[in-house]
Amino acid sequence: MSRILVTGGAGYVGSTAVALLVERGYEVVVFDDLSMGHADAVDPRATFVEGSLLDPDALRNALAGCEAVIHFAGKSLVGESVEKPDLYHHVNVDGTQNLLDAMAIHGIDRIVFSSSAATYGQPVDDPITEESLAAPTNPYGASKLAIDKMISASGISAISLRYFNVAGAYESSNGWLAERHNPETHLIPLVLRATEANPLKIFGTDWDTKDGTCIRDYVHVVDLIEAHILALGALKPHVHEIVNLGSGGGYSVREVISVATKVLGRAVPAVESPRRAGDPGTLVASIVKAKSLLGWQPTRDLETMISDTVKSQDR
Ligand code: UDP
Repeated sequence: MSRILVTGGAGYVGSTAVALLVERGYEVVVFDDLSMGHADAVDPRATFVEGSLLDPDALRNALAGCEAVIHFAGKSLVGESVEKPDLYHHVNVDGTQNLLDAMAIHGIDRIVFSSSAATYGQPVDDPITEESLAAPTNPYGASKLAIDKMISASGISAISLRYFNVAGAYESSNGWLAERHNPETHLIPLVLRATEANPLKIFGTDWDTKDGTCIRDYVHVVDLIEAHILALGALKPHVHEIVNLGSGGGYSVREVISVATKVLGRAVPAVESPRRAGDPGTLVASIVKAKSLLGWQPTRDLETMISDTVKSQDR
């Protein structure tokens, strides 16, 4: 079975990919600088290399014997990217250039890249297709778009997967893999930890949506990784495809709270708050291309995403 380099394999999404890949019989090398990830999240059956995208020698060494790369590593906090745009460009864009250069040295020409819906910016289409205008509104999204363009220009076999809102957790044979961000900014983990003393803040109740709160497209992390594994098999020589990954439908913040209330069997304390800067009202993916190109269909609903997150926290 092929040997795959997984950059960022100690993070939430990357570690889930590593576990699923080893369970499918792939030989996996994880490359991660542990700036955001956790060494204990790396499946023990994978080879772990602690290294940075900014270290070309470490990248070159880690890639020895690999046939393909799944590239998750990079800085990923929108708010931080606004404060430190140069850092985001350096780590994400220059770091990925180092990765592509190291791959070229080894003659490795297959990559699946973790891009983002943030490349589209303020959405002009609902749902958003891969043809929709890409006009990022923050340096994080700009860095992901720059990488997509760089990969296109490189002429290698590539699929960029543009994630919408990833949620849920995975119970691998080595334990639960879940979001462990500090500080946590994502809706579902915050809904689950809301208390009377520290209620969830609903960011905006005056949006032009069915109940006035923001709508997002949530996709279970396991479904998301299934798409990466399918993408590895769908790479075509010298072709770069861009593919959205979401569920194809949206939930409002109030709907997320209501599903969480059902899963938890108790009320979720919440207060109405002003809109959060930079938030669009509605972000929903068209997943027509993911279905046709990858043969992918997400199967885990929002209730499963929330109940898996709860189980991962009860461990
Ligand atoms: N949200 C909220 N309260 C919070 C965190 C998030 O109302 O404490 C809303 C946010 O405005 C957005 C949705 O929940 O509409 C999802 O936000 P998240 O940060 O999870 O993901 P994003 O869509 O920003 O990538």
